[in-house]
Amino acid sequence: MPLSRYLKIYPDPDRPGSVLLYSTRKGSVVRVSEALLADARAETLAEADCSALRRLEMWVDDAAAEREMMAALVDHTNSRSGTFAATVVLTLDCNLACPYCFEDHFRGDHALSAETARLLVAHVKREQIDRGRDVELRFYGGEPLMAVPRLKEIAGPLRDAAALAGTKFSCSLVTNATLLTRPVVEELLPFGLQSAQITLDGPEETHNSQRPFVSGRGSFSPIVANLRSVYDLITIKPGGNFTRDNYHEFPAMLDALLAAGIDPVQLGPVQFAPIHPKSGGHDPHSAACVFGSEAWLIEANLFLRKETLRRGFSVEKPHMGVCMIELTNSLVVAYDGTLYKCPPLMGWPEFAIGTLVDGISDYRQSHNLGVWKNDECLECAYLPLCFGGCRFFNKLKTGSIDGVDCRRAMLDASLETIIRQDLGLE
Ligand code: SF4
Ligand code: SF4
Repeated sequence: MPLSRYLKIYPDPDRPGSVLLYSTRKGSVVRVSEALLADARAETLAEADCSALRRLEMWVDDAAAEREMMAALVDHTNSRSGTFAATVVLTLDCNLACPYCFEDHFRGDHALSAETARLLVAHVKREQIDRGRDVELRFYGGEPLMAVPRLKEIAGPLRDAAALAGTKFSCSLVTNATLLTRPVVEELLPFGLQSAQITLDGPEETHNSQRPFVSGRGSFSPIVANLRSVYDLITIKPGGNFTRDNYHEFPAMLDALLAAGIDPVQLGPVQFAPIHPKSGGHDPHSAACVFGSEAWLIEANLFLRKETLRRGFSVEKPHMGVCMIELTNSLVVAYDGTLYKCPPLMGWPEFAIGTLVDGISDYRQSHNLGVWKNDECLECAYLPLCFGGCRFFNKLKTGSIDGVDCRRAMLDASLETIIRQDLGLE
């Protein structure tokens, strides 16, 4: 009976003679003596200590069985998943003119049509609700609130179909928040709206230069006013896109929210991400998508995480996370009804996996599913946090998605600090 291989052991400078054990599988952390760790390594632990570590998923009965379980985990999750999640692009139109946006040349006449909405509703009802699954839609753009009637044409029938079938329906927004007024949120609550991911790219002056209205006017003040007026109705998840030059300014944006009287405890987790060429700074949708391994980026992420926590806002904790591409019940629906597995891949038509008219093709080879099922990854302590990293980053780096986007260097450089931040030790 050995220690789990999905375990990190960190020194504990505050308590000489102790170490911190962190399970990447469970996200559990415990402080133990170096003597206990030595007993664990020698497999001479007392039964009570074995039981305690087993509950934290740090101690396993059979190392080979643990590895097999991890290799089968995603397939197991897919076969048991009772929830279907889709990102739906309602329109590429937007009332902002962010200089880094990669969709700016698609403005006008790129909206999801009434016919595509009807096909989408029929598809989700037939393939998901009628099979007993709950449905979570994430409306995306462009700016999805420029297409509220279409949103309701999709959410209304699916909400009703789910109620009839005894399953659940909910939806969320990825929005620039300029149109996220209280009347709009109240109008959408009966359509299952639960949360909105919004973007503030730094304090007022920085944000206004990064995210001006099409007219050139700054959008910071209207967004903060909207945030104040709706965050008691739905969960607001603030985010922002930083650059190497401006990330130091972002804590001032959090200070501005506090000064506006916004209670950070009532907000969802804050998630900052770098503006990435070609992804257009699109908001990340899973912790697995956020981090990169460049030194400045690691420093920026740790700095922003610390400053965010220090001000009483919450952040995502490291958790088991797998690329959406691996999840069978997860889909991206483009405005024209073309289907993808991940929003940034919409920039590459060769990664389309089908259409609402023709259905979904077999994408296992084209998307290289299970790319992490190799000895190096299965033996890696970071596997539960990484599962081979981001296929999109790999495509940017190598031109294809046929290998892993290894996060070992990034996690070696940052995970210990993140764990200590979450324990309030940093
Ligand atoms: S390819 Fe990358 S951005 Fe897309 S879902 Fe996977 S991890 Fe996220
Ligand atoms: S890609 Fe790298 S960090 Fe991720 S599981 Fe494989 S070896 Fe570990």
